[in-house]
Formats: sequence, C-alpha cells, structure tokens
Amino acid sequence: MSAQIIDGKTIAAALRAKVAAQVAQLTNKGIVPGLAVVLVGDNPASAAYVRTKGKQTVEAGMRSFDHRLPESASEADVLALVQKLNADAAVHGILVQLPLPNQIDSQKVLAAIDPRKDVDGFHPLNAGKLATGLPALVPCTPVGCVMLAKTVHASLAGLEAVVIGRSNIVGKPLAQLLLTENTTVTVAHSRTRDLPAVCRRADLLFAAIGKPEMVRGDWIKPGATVIDVGINRVPADEGKTRLVGDVNFAEACAVAGAVTPVPGGVGQMTVACLLANTLQAACMIAGLPAPKL
Ligand code: NAP
Repeated sequence: MSAQIIDGKTIAAALRAKVAAQVAQLTNKGIVPGLAVVLVGDNPASAAYVRTKGKQTVEAGMRSFDHRLPESASEADVLALVQKLNADAAVHGILVQLPLPNQIDSQKVLAAIDPRKDVDGFHPLNAGKLATGLPALVPCTPVGCVMLAKTVHASLAGLEAVVIGRSNIVGKPLAQLLLTENTTVTVAHSRTRDLPAVCRRADLLFAAIGKPEMVRGDWIKPGATVIDVGINRVPADEGKTRLVGDVNFAEACAVAGAVTPVPGGVGQMTVACLLANTLQAACMIAGLPAPKL
C-alpha cells in the first residue's frame, strides 16, 4: 500500500487565495487588515518564520508591521510594545514570536495582547472560549491540521483520533477542535503507557511531539490518516541539515491511507491560517460577520 500524500502546499495556497479575495472586499470597504509580528532576539529559525509570514501577509493584500527587539530586551519593553499595538487601529492581529528570551515571561506577554487581536489564539480568554464552544480566535496549527484531515474525510464524526502531545499551542487546542468535529479523542503524552498500541487505535493520528521520526510504521493502523506536526532539524550528508517530522515518513507511506509530508504539510497551513485569523480579527473589530473561507 502506498499512502496518499496530503499536499499542504497546494491546500494552503488555495486558502491564501480565498483570504486574499475577502481582504480585497474588505479593503473596498476602507478596512485593510494589518498583522503586527514581534520578534525578540535573532533566533535564525524564528527570523525565517517571521520573514515568510511578512511576505505572505503582503501577498494577501494585508499590511505587515515588523517589530524587532534585541535579545536583551526586558519584559517591560515587550509589554510596552504590545500595549502600543493594542491601541493601534491599523493593527488587527498581533503575533509575538515564541520562544521569548528567558528574562521574559511568555504567559504574561500573551495575556497582555488584546484578545480581539490575538491571532495566535494563545490568550487564556480565547483558549477558554474554544474549550467552552464559543466563537474564538483559534491557534493556527491545530486549525490547519483539522483542515488537512478534512481533505481526506468529508466528515471526521465518529472517527477515533489520537493526538500525541498536550502543549497549549498544538495538542490541547487540537483535541478541542477534534471534539467539536465529533471525533473520539485520546490525548497521549510522555507518560502514556504503551504509546504504539494507543496509536494503532487511531483512524486519525496527529503527532506533535518534537522528536524526529519517533512514530514508526508499526504504530499506524493500516489505512489511517497521519498528520505530522513535528518540525525537527537533523544532521544530513556533507555537514548539512534537513527537516524531518515526528513520523517516519517512508514507513508511514507503506501503512497509512494518507500522510502529510515535512516540509510541505502542516507548516504551510499554519501561516495560511494565521492570515485567515487576521482577516477574522479585522472583521470582528469592525463589527462585520466572520468571513466564510
Ligand atoms: P512541546 O511544547 O515540547 O510539547 C511536546 C509534547 O510531546 C508534550 O506534551 C510532551 O509530553 C510530548 N512528548 C514528548 N516526548 C514524548 C514521548 N517520548 N512520548 C509521548 N509524548 C511525548 O512541543 P509543541 O510546541 O507542541 O510542538 C511539537 C512539535 O510540533 C515540534 O516539533 C514543533 O517544532 C512542531 N510545531 C510545528 C508547527 C507547524 O507549523 N508545523 C507549529 C508548532 C509546533 P509531556 O506534556 O508529558 O511533556
């Protein structure tokens, strides 16, 4: 058996095109959605993400505001910038790139973002709304994961889903979203007993662990859909590095019904969903209905 490869690149491009069309309509009404990204320090991976986000924001017809602070910035510096962006009417979405340097309390910074502009969906108010089934800005990576799974299954209702990982940014919100899709959800983590056996129950297997190629072919139920969230840089030939996911891709292809590649899977969707959230935030702030995408 050879699995269908879920083409995140094409699916994300289609979502960005839909966002751009709605941004054009909003711009005609005099509202240009604006996304502000705050980068503290010069972590090369974070800087690369921020560049991609900025480029795709502009391509979608939105305004991109790039704010860089030095690695030595204090918590007060970051909080002051967040307050300034909260008050700026041209800014509809605020994203503070994580991780932040050790001297800064990330939770404090995330909680300082105006929840209406919280396009990462990490503010406790938005996390609580998602958990209680209220309309919210929802974290981008989990939304992207569900969208990819829905390209394979018209409905996820009744399917058995296993999410490996329980972080606030991926695992937990993904489990909440899957519940709203009426799947039966198990959240596994580092204390889960016999993880391979738990994974073999899954019709939908989501890996958000941060451990290169940990999920092996014999952990996968034949025909299952596997969504690989992991992004891990590992050594490659000639002193170079390459990106791999949390799933052993070659082994998964031999067993799964469908699988996302890394790169070219979930990562592409994350940025597209960020643009969608910025559009949603701009509509909400203007008192307009949420866009249909
Ligand atoms: P995280 O905060 O480090 O959480 C990792 C989770 O995996 C934790 O819940 C941890 O369990 C669990 N885990 C670790 N080792 C395990 C093991 N041996 N067996 C079972 N579970 C284990 O990571 P994250 O921020 O959620 O990110 C996860 C991965 O997704 C990373 O590779 C990250 O780079 C990637 N990511 C990708 C995107 C994207 O756009 N594609 C976005 C975000 C993150 P405990 O809770 O018990 O410690």
